[in-house]
Amino acid sequence: MSIEQPIIKQADLIESIADALQYISYYHPKDFVDAMAEAYEKEESAAAKDAIAQILINSRMSAEGKRPLCQDTGIVTCFVKVGMGVQWDKTDMTVQQMVDEGVRRAYTNPDNPLRASIVADPAGSRKNTRDNTPSVVHIDMVPGNHVEVAIAAKGGGSENKSKMVMLNPSDDIAAWVEKTLPTMGAGWCPPGMLGIGIGGTAEKAAVMAKESLMDPVDIHELQARGAETTEEKLRLEIFERANKLGIGAQGLGGLTTVLDIKIKSAPTHAASKPVVMIPNCAATRHVHFHLDGTGPAELTPPSLSDWPEITREAGEDVRRVNLDTVTQADIEQWKSGDVLLLNGKMLTGRDAAHKRIQTLIESGEGLPEGVDFTGKFIYYVGPVDPVGNEVVGPAGPTTATRMDKFTDLMLDKTGLMGMIGKAERGPATVESIKKHKAVYLMAVGGAAYLVSKAIKKSRVVAFEDLGMEAIYEFDVQDMPVTVAVDSDGVNAHETGPAMWKVKLS
Ligand code: SF4
Repeated sequence: MSIEQPIIKQADLIESIADALQYISYYHPKDFVDAMAEAYEKEESAAAKDAIAQILINSRMSAEGKRPLCQDTGIVTCFVKVGMGVQWDKTDMTVQQMVDEGVRRAYTNPDNPLRASIVADPAGSRKNTRDNTPSVVHIDMVPGNHVEVAIAAKGGGSENKSKMVMLNPSDDIAAWVEKTLPTMGAGWCPPGMLGIGIGGTAEKAAVMAKESLMDPVDIHELQARGAETTEEKLRLEIFERANKLGIGAQGLGGLTTVLDIKIKSAPTHAASKPVVMIPNCAATRHVHFHLDGTGPAELTPPSLSDWPEITREAGEDVRRVNLDTVTQADIEQWKSGDVLLLNGKMLTGRDAAHKRIQTLIESGEGLPEGVDFTGKFIYYVGPVDPVGNEVVGPAGPTTATRMDKFTDLMLDKTGLMGMIGKAERGPATVESIKKHKAVYLMAVGGAAYLVSKAIKKSRVVAFEDLGMEAIYEFDVQDMPVTVAVDSDGVNAHETGPAMWKVKLS
């Protein structure tokens, strides 16, 4: 029951924030599961359908196992609306400090530790803060006696693809989105939502774009009842034009690129039309609660029957590959779009490890003992720490495009045979892959818990001080991947969307 003049306890907000972050680390919102299940049902592209199946199976497994949906457990973004009549029981902490304390508790929870991804001194040493603080908190003072909170754990891959433009007042916003979306590649792990902020000033448009992503997927309700406002008309227009691009799940080409378009707008200067577009990925994670002085928020767990029953069988055309014995002649047989099940040993490495490898090679010092990429594959990943008897925590691929600047060196100097990651490679990297007769394989971004179940052994090989960015050796069994760039340089992220764009037009 609501209290007239409530006193909100610091402890209640902190506990509610911690509980909410644990909750969203393993439960997708139901509206998102429903939208993804619908996309699965109607998908006609085999590669995209399989990617969506992996996302849905992963989602259910995470809900069952109470382990993170994705290895990137996000940067915490929190919208707090504080009623003008609210009193706090203590005044020694700011709202930002209370939210950060909740973040700290959630991310270091021993039952389900979440990956700490926040680095301080972003332009310099980029040192991990170890508890995922600080969060990004937006505070509004609103009428009333309650505290309303919308909290999200935003993935870095999707955040990195955000776009901002100052359009001319007469420019067409839908045309800008249509032109810009293909330039964002697949690093945002589509299908997902696009949050669009229009108007205000540059920074206001960005905050509106982010806040719009806190709303549930409801494009079908809008389609059914018809648009009444300018924003609603624009949502429908952008939804149609975006899906006609054929980008598809994981950028492999297909029917569904976006599950919904969200728009918030504000009055702006007569000379301006600021527009910010922020994508939300396969790890769409947000929840809402309110505090009225009666205690911490209670979040109801969903029912497992909310998830569709989807199974994946290895089809006849799926190849099992032994990474311990695979030869150059073998990989040259693989064609872009082929589905493989990987078995055997691979090494891992992502941004920090690559930078260090580059320094060691260029200085002539050579790689540390035990690190030998000859004839090996590297998996771009930064896993979550394991709990209980897990070999490794959720361990999905990170965006390969960020490793493009190191790839030619890796292929040239280390004897590396191929790479595993998510999203597309740039043109120069595709050329390098072709030149070295190497391959790039793609695992499904956002299917991290599912992928981790294929990892049977894990050990740190080098750079232990880098934490989740260390080089590990994984021993995998039937890890599903798709050949994204084959040894002839044929690139599934180009051919797939191009084919589906034509089909859809
Ligand atoms: S689903 Fe993709 S973009 Fe989203 S957090 Fe996971 S890896 Fe990052």
